[in-house]
Amino acid sequence: MKFTELGLHESLLKAVTEQQYDTPTPIQAQAIPAVMKGNDVLASAQTGTGKTAGFVLPMLHRLAERPRANSARPLALILTPTRELAAQVHASIETYGKYMDLRSAVVFGGVKINPQITALRRGVDLLVATPGRLLDLHQQGALKLDQVETLVLDEADRMLDMGFIHDIRRVLAMLPKQRQNLLFSATFSGEIQKLARGLLRNPVEISVAPVSTAAERVSQTLHPVDKGRKAELLSHLIRDQSWHQALVFSRTKHGANKLVKRLEQDGIQSAAIHGNKSQAQRTKVLDQFKRGSLQILVATDIAARGIDIDQLPQVVNFDLPDVPEDYVHRIGRTGRAGAEGEAVSLVCADEIRQLKAIERVLKGPISQITVPGFEPQNRLENAVPSAAPRRGGAGRPGPRQKAGGDSRPRRTGRSGNPQGRSGRRERATV
Ligand code: AMP
Repeated sequence: MKFTELGLHESLLKAVTEQQYDTPTPIQAQAIPAVMKGNDVLASAQTGTGKTAGFVLPMLHRLAERPRANSARPLALILTPTRELAAQVHASIETYGKYMDLRSAVVFGGVKINPQITALRRGVDLLVATPGRLLDLHQQGALKLDQVETLVLDEADRMLDMGFIHDIRRVLAMLPKQRQNLLFSATFSGEIQKLARGLLRNPVEISVAPVSTAAERVSQTLHPVDKGRKAELLSHLIRDQSWHQALVFSRTKHGANKLVKRLEQDGIQSAAIHGNKSQAQRTKVLDQFKRGSLQILVATDIAARGIDIDQLPQVVNFDLPDVPEDYVHRIGRTGRAGAEGEAVSLVCADEIRQLKAIERVLKGPISQITVPGFEPQNRLENAVPSAAPRRGGAGRPGPRQKAGGDSRPRRTGRSGNPQGRSGRRERATV
C-alpha cells in the first residue's frame, strides 16, 4: 500500500512526500482509515512504529475542510505523559500540517503559563497537552474543552504510570460526551483495559508488533562488571569503540548527574536530562544532541520517553531498569526506521533480579561479553536474586568470588527476542 491510496487530503500527501515517506507503516495502514472514518481506536503501539503519523495525519485530514478556529476551543485534543512527547507530537503536526491552514498549539508544565494563554487566545483547532498544565489552563479560563470532537490519549500506559489517572478523569469530564476517542498504549494492564472500556465505543483494535521488530534490528549485548567500575567501563567503551554518540540510561536523576560529572572528568562531552532539569535546559540539551553537537546524553526513563532521534546508533543501559518493559522501550531508541542499532547493558551482580525479569520478557538471554580488564569480582552467575522485588532497589549481592584468569571476551547466550508483554507496570524511578 502507498500513502496515495489512503485518500488523505492533498496538502497532507504533499507534506508526507516531502518527508520521503512512501509506504505507510503497519500501524498507519490500519489506523489512518479507521480514524478518517471517525471510529474509536484502541492501538497497541509504541514510539518507533510511526504511530504519531498514524493518528496525526487522519486527524488533520478531518480538520482540513473545517473553518479555522478563532477561539481557544479546540476541536481535537492530544494528551501525552511528558513535555518532550508533547513537543514532539506538536512538531509532527507542524510537519504534516505544513500546507494546511491550521491552528495548533502545545501546552505543558515546567514553563511559564502566560505565553501559552496568549497562544491559545489566538485560536486553536488542535491542542497537544500534558494533563496537569491543561487543567491549570482550564481552571484559569484560558480555554474551553466543550468543542472537542476527537481525543487522543498517547502513551496511555505511561500516563497511568506517572499517576495521571485522576487528571485524565477530570479532563474527560470536561469533554462533550459525543466524540471520537483514540487510545495508544504500549502495554495493556488491567488499569489500561478499565480506562479503555470506559472510554471507547466499539473501537477498532489495532495491534502491531513494534517491540519485537524494533528490538530484532538491535544487537543486544551485556557486559558484566562490578558496580564501582561501571563509569570507568563506559568511558573505556566510548573511547575504545569510538562511539560518535550514545544515549545512556540511568535509573535515577542523582546517578545521571554523577555519571555526567565522571564522564566530563574523563574528557567526554556529556549532559544529563531528567525531571529536575528545567524545561529550558532539557530543550537545549536535546537540541544539541539531535544536532550531533553533544556526544553523550545521560537520561532517566521518563525524560527519555518518546524522544525521537533518527539514526541513533548506540543505547547504553548504565543501570538496568526496575520495570522490564522499560528495557524494551530503551532499546527501542536505537535501530529505528530500519537503521541498525546497538544496545549495551552494563550489569553488576546487584542487578541480577532485574536481568532475569528482562530476559523473561525477551524470552531469552542477552549475549554476555566480558570486557578484558573489567572482569567482575562479583560474577553474575553467582549472584542470587532477592526474594521480593523492592522498588528502586536491587537484588541481594551474590557471594564474592575472584574473577578467573580468562581475560578474553566471552560470549554466552543468544540475543533476546522481546515479544512478551506482561502488562504489569510499576512507576519508574525518575
Ligand atoms: P513514531 O513512532 O511516531 O515516533 O515515529 C517514528 C519515526 O518514524 C519518526 O522519525 C517518523 O518520522 C518516522 N516515520 C513515520 N512514518 C513513517 C513512514 N511511513 N515511513 C518512514 N518513516 C516514517
